[in-house]
Amino acid sequence: MHGSPKSLEALNAQIISCNLCSRLRTHCIEIARVRRRAYTDWEYWGRPVPSFGDPQARVLALGLAPGAHGSNRTGRPFTGDGSGDFLFPALHDAGFASQPGASSRDDGMKLTGLWITSVVRCAPPGNKPSPEELRTCAPWLDHEIALLKKLRVVVCLGRIAFDGLLAYEKRRGSATLRSQYSFAHGAEFTLPSGLKAITSYHPSLQNTNTGKLTKPMLLNVFLRARDLAGLK
Ligand code: SF4
Repeated sequence: MHGSPKSLEALNAQIISCNLCSRLRTHCIEIARVRRRAYTDWEYWGRPVPSFGDPQARVLALGLAPGAHGSNRTGRPFTGDGSGDFLFPALHDAGFASQPGASSRDDGMKLTGLWITSVVRCAPPGNKPSPEELRTCAPWLDHEIALLKKLRVVVCLGRIAFDGLLAYEKRRGSATLRSQYSFAHGAEFTLPSGLKAITSYHPSLQNTNTGKLTKPMLLNVFLRARDLAGLK
């Protein structure tokens, strides 16, 4: 069902043509057909969103899911919406991103030392994937982590992303007790696989507009990830 891709490029090609979650595929296609008034001239991506970044990455940024009019429109994670407008300046200041703004797949953005993905790769209604959709998409993350040979640190953007990483550990056979890992902004964990995890509030508008997540808070998370990953 999820194949056995030999490279991150092959993995992304398989993800783009995945149709396993009928509710999500129908939703993404409908959003792409109707569009938002501000984007009527856009040809929406409307497919599962492939991951992106540096194949030699030591740090993985793990998000929740594509935004309906963000990456479901542009075809690149965190590109073209409010969450990305908050995330990329922090990635730029922390030395991971070549530029602070992300507007389209052709905007020239290059990541160094970082790979960006999410636990669900199709935009869900209300930003809420079902538990079954999370489980269905999970094997793509397993392939991805296996292919990121230099990976050391995972920055989990939000509680659901962190739960997704713990579920990955469980699938590997690690005896992870959820109660050992309480989610908090800036918390750090060493997981049974040897990966380090840092948890962060998600840079959603709900968090950033209310001041729950500030720019310095997010920047500090990625600076700490650099340290933990042994990046200069
Ligand atoms: S959410 Fe994941 S598993 Fe489901 S259709 Fe999209 S890519 Fe496939």
